[in-house]
Amino acid sequence: MEIEKLLKKIKNYSPEADLETVKRAYFYALKAHKGQFRASGEEYIIHPIAVADLLADLKLSSTTIAAGLLHDVAEDTKYKLSDIKKEFGAEIAFLVDGVSKLRKIRYQGTESQIENLRKLFLAMAKDARVALIKFCDRVHNLETLKHLPAEKRRRIALESAEIYAPLANRLGVGVIRTKLEDLSFPYILPNEYKELIARVKDKYEERIKYLKRVRPEIEKELKKEKIKNYQIDCRAKGYYSLYKKLAKYDNTLEKVYDLAALRIIVDDVETCYKVLGIIHKIWHPVPGKMKDYIALPKPNGYKSLHTTVICLDGKITEFQIRTFKMHSEAEFGIAAHWYYSEQKGLKAYIKRKISAPPEKEIPWIRQMKSWMEKNKGLASEQYLESLKIDFLSNRIFVLTPRGDVIDLPEKATPIDFAYAIHGEVGTHCAGAKVNGKMSSLSGSLENGDVVSIITDKHKNPSEDWLRIVKTTFAKNQIKKFLKKPSLPPEEIGFKKKNPIQRLLPKIKFPAKPAEKTQKLLIGGHSDLLFKMAKCCSPTPKDEVSAYLTKYNGASIHKNSCQNLKKLKDDFPDKIFKCEWEK
Ligand code: MN
Repeated sequence: MEIEKLLKKIKNYSPEADLETVKRAYFYALKAHKGQFRASGEEYIIHPIAVADLLADLKLSSTTIAAGLLHDVAEDTKYKLSDIKKEFGAEIAFLVDGVSKLRKIRYQGTESQIENLRKLFLAMAKDARVALIKFCDRVHNLETLKHLPAEKRRRIALESAEIYAPLANRLGVGVIRTKLEDLSFPYILPNEYKELIARVKDKYEERIKYLKRVRPEIEKELKKEKIKNYQIDCRAKGYYSLYKKLAKYDNTLEKVYDLAALRIIVDDVETCYKVLGIIHKIWHPVPGKMKDYIALPKPNGYKSLHTTVICLDGKITEFQIRTFKMHSEAEFGIAAHWYYSEQKGLKAYIKRKISAPPEKEIPWIRQMKSWMEKNKGLASEQYLESLKIDFLSNRIFVLTPRGDVIDLPEKATPIDFAYAIHGEVGTHCAGAKVNGKMSSLSGSLENGDVVSIITDKHKNPSEDWLRIVKTTFAKNQIKKFLKKPSLPPEEIGFKKKNPIQRLLPKIKFPAKPAEKTQKLLIGGHSDLLFKMAKCCSPTPKDEVSAYLTKYNGASIHKNSCQNLKKLKDDFPDKIFKCEWEK
């Protein structure tokens, strides 16, 4: 019987687990679902068991697995949530409630889908295990999707690929993300799926064979360097992820180097870098392909070293190097956190009532929770669209010149960045420098870009910005500003404790155009763009110096100007001697 297998599996990774509760949950679900069948014609109980089994693959505790066994009881049987609470306690009842749909009568169609998601997200914000149960539920439903009518298949597959897979990615549960994507793929894009499989199937096999030849080479070197405890895996890229990558590289398979990669897992960070050095010693690295996600983890917490080298037979090959802990976190993400925290104090933990996961580890969930509170008023469709962009889209890390990391959705613009730093910085954002170069405010930022924002207190948001920005926060701030009657900028609060001055201590002066006829030699150059600083309004009669701004060319000050003196102290290398051309 299946349940025995499940119990054995749990015992294997958690000898102290409370198997009694799991067993009770199983028999309760068996009784509750008696006489119910899946669309496949099988007895209903195979579904909760499959879900529990997937949860056990994530090495979750007996509490979560029991909730997985009971997850459809409150929604689909005569037993109510209160019955589950009486029988299994508040914690399990909370988890079951989190994944149960709302009563069907209240909403219809898309609205019901969105309301159900909203309910799930709120529960998930309180306890991330709700999401893990939902993921496993969805994986098994996708595995058995062929038994459902066609239009239902597509809707479920689409929701899985657009919402659940990105969510799993954000929570770092790599194994689940790949499953959700690859199981949905044939239903969302059937033709593309077939085409891709036909095209790459042989390639995959060929690559795996090749990596099996590379493996002993690397093992030999590891041995020489006395690295003993390691694990080497071949990892093949998921089909859906490959499909998306190909779309990015004009469909050229030859440009995808990580079709299959070798993964080397070792004890500690130090050894990771040592292994990287060993690989680079044997094979020549491809410039620009080395990624240090240990020093700079991905926004979802992913840590690893990636490098691409010209390997055996001159084939370009990717290696991923990480510690065992990083590996388990990359595969299980938030589930790994649960595993670690539950392993530490399993007994104490069981006694606890409904508990939130260790908060410091998932700040993103906290952000999402506060986002949901702030945007309660949005209409359903808009709510979902905004939520997708703000939280489920791929994320990029963008850096301030000081090295602070700002987490933004893909394709976010410098204006989004400015608002993410501070509302006031966004409101008066006049220009942006990306990696040292002037950039348009509407351009898309890329992961790892260093962005500095140039502000001007006279600059204000315009209607156009609403079409440019990606984040809901920026949108709301712009809308709020546009609704406000415009005040002279002096009254907006540019006093002593202005946040811009605090955050961006580079002093900016609004400048007015110079008289066209007058020419000025700045540091010996006559072709530089310049403007007269408003603070001292120099004329051709004055002795002047130039301060090289980031955005507006040079700003010209009288030599006697107090602001110039301050600038000289702060940025001596940006001050240049000037001469009026006669
Ligand atoms: Mn279910």
